[in-house]
Amino acid sequence: MTDERHAKSANELEGPVTEVPVELPERHVLVRCPGCRRAVDAAELSSALDVCPRCGTHLRIGARRRIEVTIDDGSFEEWDEGLEAVDLLGFPDYPAKLEAAREKSGELDGVITGRASIGGEACALFVMNGDFMMGSMGSAVGERICRAFERATEEGLPVVGFAVSGGARMQEGTTSLMQMAKVSAAVRRHGEEGLAYLVVLTDPTSGGVTASFAMEADVCLAEPGALVAFAGPRVVEQTTHRRLPAGFQSAEFQLSHGFVDAIVERSELPGAISGLLALHDPSARGPEHAERLPRWPLPLRDQEPLRPDASAYERVERVRSNHRPTIPALIDQVFDGFFELHGDRGFGDDPAIVAGIAWLAGRPVTVIGTDRGRNTKERVERNFGSPNPEGYRKALRLMRQAEKFGRPVVCLVDTSGAYCGMGAEERGQGAAIADSIVAMSGLSVPEVTVICGEGGSGGALALAVADRVCMLSGAVYSVVSPEGCASILWRSAKRAPEAAEALRITAPELERMGLVDEVIDEAGMGTSAFADAFGARLASMIDELSGLDASELVSRRYDKFRSMGRFSE
Ligand SMILES: [Zn+2]
Repeated sequence: MTDERHAKSANELEGPVTEVPVELPERHVLVRCPGCRRAVDAAELSSALDVCPRCGTHLRIGARRRIEVTIDDGSFEEWDEGLEAVDLLGFPDYPAKLEAAREKSGELDGVITGRASIGGEACALFVMNGDFMMGSMGSAVGERICRAFERATEEGLPVVGFAVSGGARMQEGTTSLMQMAKVSAAVRRHGEEGLAYLVVLTDPTSGGVTASFAMEADVCLAEPGALVAFAGPRVVEQTTHRRLPAGFQSAEFQLSHGFVDAIVERSELPGAISGLLALHDPSARGPEHAERLPRWPLPLRDQEPLRPDASAYERVERVRSNHRPTIPALIDQVFDGFFELHGDRGFGDDPAIVAGIAWLAGRPVTVIGTDRGRNTKERVERNFGSPNPEGYRKALRLMRQAEKFGRPVVCLVDTSGAYCGMGAEERGQGAAIADSIVAMSGLSVPEVTVICGEGGSGGALALAVADRVCMLSGAVYSVVSPEGCASILWRSAKRAPEAAEALRITAPELERMGLVDEVIDEAGMGTSAFADAFGARLASMIDELSGLDASELVSRRYDKFRSMGRFSE
């Protein structure tokens, strides 16, 4: 994409380009918000980090200002500040354009790089500059970012990047295109050292930058409302001869299509970035028992205690009840500082799978869980906790990341099974589950799975090929739902209780058969005492497993599942 095209498309989207200030007698300078079109006091706007106090529109800000509002005061050390573009092709008017951009922005080219700390966490930083030829990427931009990654690799630093760009700089021809390849290779080398890369997509991020380093980060955040597009809206409209719906290619659109981990408001970015850097910092120790942020405001619910003589089917009905604490509620109580990450990077974000990174007893872990929802509305949104392929692909993406950073994986399962729908079949439900099962069998980090409620068939196993597979005492785990079994074998779903009994799906029976490693007493589930004890049990299992080297871990896991099966010959 070219910078000019995008400059136009950005105007079309009413990008926050400040209008000519009007000086009033009281010397209040007013600017018109491009979101709500109302006049806003410039000083008020500035103290709100250039976020409209009326409508929340995030106005565009320059790179220097971005650095100032993001990093710890006085922590910035700039790198390669003398590196600038040259007119390598003798392209018409390019020298004059460069000159004008330098004058306008006070910078030599379209990105600033250096070292900084954010919330006390050291990082390499690159911040693209929309004020310089719309953040277009030529040789100098590519070189500065590439060097920042190389230096970060040498010095063992994570990279934090702020993307804003109209795309490759056409005045430098195919050499601009090659910057995408050059920077991507440096991103890969940096990642191979187990170093983290976080990116923040800001308005607008488009063209070659979205087709390279802006989409290569471990964690991809975006500012609300930012345009994130490969081909800008005008180009798409011209190509397809169709008007695009409102919100097309917004950050929110990208989140729901699975390409962004989270949308974070500008004022919360420093906290989010430093929190994520700490979760990726091998030397950081998280809080043992920090303040837990209530992300799911309903507390854990207290359920009727499990009767020891409850039949198999009574157990099934009990775990399906509305009174059973949901997995997000458990995550909330058991882990600290859970940061939810979204999306499979291919199709969508499945709300039936909740996944992210959190602290467990001071150690960062990847947490993956299923979510049935707490009420009818949530249950419908989450397919009643039955994941789609994109849910399993999100889980797999985060497992791979856990492996990259040597982070243990904890899976908490409560699902009737993978979703049986047309879309799920079209997108490869079986293949998605299979990929997850085979990946878990070879992951080089400790894995602990707890079946917390219903463990429904392959949809549960996709998250349960773990070093330790535990069940809460009231949970069930089955190859097929009792109703499904009864209607297939006996043509009567009414015989489900009989099927439940025959299938031997209760926690004690499965432990006796050696199919699960441990039954965890669920008495008091719904209380914080239970959450603390449960967290402590998870942490001690992970401690034990962390003592094994990766090959030992994988080979023991192999032996464990290898031994399952009864036959005669
Ligand atoms: Zn506004």
